[in-house]
Amino acid sequence: MSNAFADVNRYFERAAAVLNLSREVVEQLVTPYRELRVECTIRMDNGSIRTFTGYRVQHDNSRGPFKGGLRYHPDVDIDEVRALASLMTWKTAVVGIPFGGAKGGISVDPSQLSVFELERLTRKFVAGIHDLIGDSVDIPAPDVNTNAQVMAWIMDEYSKFHGFHPGVVTGKPVDLFGSVGRDEATGRGVVIALEELLRTQAQQLSDATYVVQGFGNVGSHTARILHERGGRVIGIGDHTASFYDTSGLDIPSALAHVKEKRVLAGWTGAPQIQNSEILLKPCDVLIPAALGGVITKDNADKLQCRIIAEGANGPTTPEADEILRHRSITVLPDIFANAGGVTVSYFEWVQNLQQFAWDENKVRVELERVMRNAFRHLNQTAAKHHIDLRTAAFVVAIDRVARATAQRGL
Ligand code: GLU
Repeated sequence: MSNAFADVNRYFERAAAVLNLSREVVEQLVTPYRELRVECTIRMDNGSIRTFTGYRVQHDNSRGPFKGGLRYHPDVDIDEVRALASLMTWKTAVVGIPFGGAKGGISVDPSQLSVFELERLTRKFVAGIHDLIGDSVDIPAPDVNTNAQVMAWIMDEYSKFHGFHPGVVTGKPVDLFGSVGRDEATGRGVVIALEELLRTQAQQLSDATYVVQGFGNVGSHTARILHERGGRVIGIGDHTASFYDTSGLDIPSALAHVKEKRVLAGWTGAPQIQNSEILLKPCDVLIPAALGGVITKDNADKLQCRIIAEGANGPTTPEADEILRHRSITVLPDIFANAGGVTVSYFEWVQNLQQFAWDENKVRVELERVMRNAFRHLNQTAAKHHIDLRTAAFVVAIDRVARATAQRGL
């Protein structure tokens, strides 16, 4: 994702033009508020010492505390974190939850670290940023290669400096002040978004075929819920293996395999294809749910789908987006399609502040309400300005952030 921040800002600029924003306002909204870079030096299990670099970018907090995930990946750098932080600002605004945008990450390949090393690394990172996060300041959450256990370590390490504040981080284990339904929330949100879009085309989830690229938290829950809802998932893949069968895949079997082996490699439930083919296979709905920058100008004209639902953050480059628009492929943009995760993070935060836990039904009902309202607003905005859904999502988001910014004053 090189130049990822510039890519996000190209989408921003398209929408800013629709809104007729002045240069001054554009500059104010685009510029990140604060960027942290911290050295994380830990002792490895074998006695050696290694240094990793961690980042936290706080992009905007005019609508509420900074909010966004924490990613552990070798490709993490300041440009990527900046881009993802900015996407969070627009994402929280699109769905109308009272947060700003932030993102963090550590440049590390977590598969090369033991669980003890990962814990030490996480705690070291928190020690470096604890003064600049907090339940009313900035609230991290899971993202690529981080999970509820990592969030539990963050909560615990933070409490050593500031006492009991479970709302400092979301996506925690349900046993430790987490919310039921948070784990599957991004996937469930993707499915709700698709259901709404298909409804505008007089179709149901069960009328379409789906290919899901990525089988981590987002991809696996999306595939599971689509399958449960009668959708035919005909392709799945992760970085280790991909599978495709037009008669439909046995998703429960793939999930059971991944639960045991962590990756799809070794699953024998369907014909295997090259990983490079998964995005190009015929389907109604393509769901990129892994890393950014996978739909590019080199493959956008080869896709054989009519809808793309962006489970991942930033999967489509602006050049590819242009091609998709010309090809009349409808894109449910990341800042809306994958907003279910941060929405249930909001519910978790509310539960933490109120010290009152919701049941799963309440989480689902509220998630549906937020996602369906957001879609309605998005769709109306797109129709009103004759623009695509991504530009409409940015228009809705930028309008809200710009108003909050203006009302606060300098
Ligand atoms: N990492 C997720 C995202 O990109 C969730 C962020 C959150 O829950 O704060 O939306």
